[in-house]
Amino acid sequence: MTMGKAAVYTKPHTFELIELPVPDVEAGGLLVKITSAGICGSDLHYWRGDISPSFWAGGAKGGVILGHEMTGVVQALGKGVTKDSMGRPLKEGDRVAYTYFFPCMRCYNCLRGELNTCPNRTRFRQTVEDFPYCTGGFSEYFYLPPGHFVFKMPDELGDELATSANCAVAQVIFGLRKAGIGMGDHVVVQGAGGLGINAVAAAKEMGAERVIAIDGQPGRLKLAEECGADDTIDIREYNTVETRTARVRELTEGRGADVVLELVGFPDALVEGFSLMRPGGKIVEIGCMWPNSTTQLDVSKFVWTNATVIGIAHYDPYILPVTLDFLVRTKDKYPLGDIMSHSFPLEKIDEAFQQSEWLGKDTGSAITRAFLKP
Ligand SMILES: [Zn+2]
Ligand SMILES: [Zn+2]
Repeated sequence: MTMGKAAVYTKPHTFELIELPVPDVEAGGLLVKITSAGICGSDLHYWRGDISPSFWAGGAKGGVILGHEMTGVVQALGKGVTKDSMGRPLKEGDRVAYTYFFPCMRCYNCLRGELNTCPNRTRFRQTVEDFPYCTGGFSEYFYLPPGHFVFKMPDELGDELATSANCAVAQVIFGLRKAGIGMGDHVVVQGAGGLGINAVAAAKEMGAERVIAIDGQPGRLKLAEECGADDTIDIREYNTVETRTARVRELTEGRGADVVLELVGFPDALVEGFSLMRPGGKIVEIGCMWPNSTTQLDVSKFVWTNATVIGIAHYDPYILPVTLDFLVRTKDKYPLGDIMSHSFPLEKIDEAFQQSEWLGKDTGSAITRAFLKP
């Protein structure tokens, strides 16, 4: 039996490096050899113990493999798989992008074509003890079950751009589309991390008139500007909701933003969004994805601002080829690859997580994401 390396998450702050059987690929399945996996903010939440992996695993109790933002090459194609999800020929050795969640295709929501809302969709499919074992990014292999969505990676995209495509980039593009963003819109992006920087560039490409990024780290704000932000608001200078609101009004001819994206992951940022948006505006909530993200909200704000709040988890798989096209088209325009600033071998996963924990506190360089090379 062929074996592959994997870092198994067993309890907060603890990974165990083990060897796992490489699964035999079922008909319609696909095995990926991972070349790069990013440490997403949500992985850090698992690592800290904010969320139990069973939140996603449908009750998995044992060790699971974290990591979902990743790319790799086709190691083996299951019987019947000869093309990618766009009908392009696919062969072993091809670089690919793929969704890391798997809608069931047998429920009301899937039938409605709302694949990101499928209540049965899985991510960590089970513990590492059960087939197909390799169900996370911090591993040498990743298994795509029958019915998966896979896309050939454009040659122009190196792994520094390709790795984030299936999480950070696709997620914010889907959010912006859900908000119906268009020409002339003023957009506020709360949080200029992995999601925020990509959201800034994507909003500009979708026609936003003015994009304002809010963060507290000069490195991130600088990168946001390089990636298309028209203005930035440093929360160390504008350190109250009132001053940030006043600044956003100043920058939007007194109106407030048409769309606010909450990508910080602080529940209070959502409340602040009501002040930053214009009456009748929209808030896209992506940041607060772990349970018990509670805050106090005066519900009348909701009513009297005629607000629309759009909650988003995952995306429709068609967004992934849209994302890849966006990355190819803008690769010389925005330095989005700079988001991926730190690289570690899988064996150094502890160090990678510890450093990622500190990335958010760095004041100098623009560092937002670390990635592992299994
Ligand atoms: Zn993610
Ligand atoms: Zn379903």
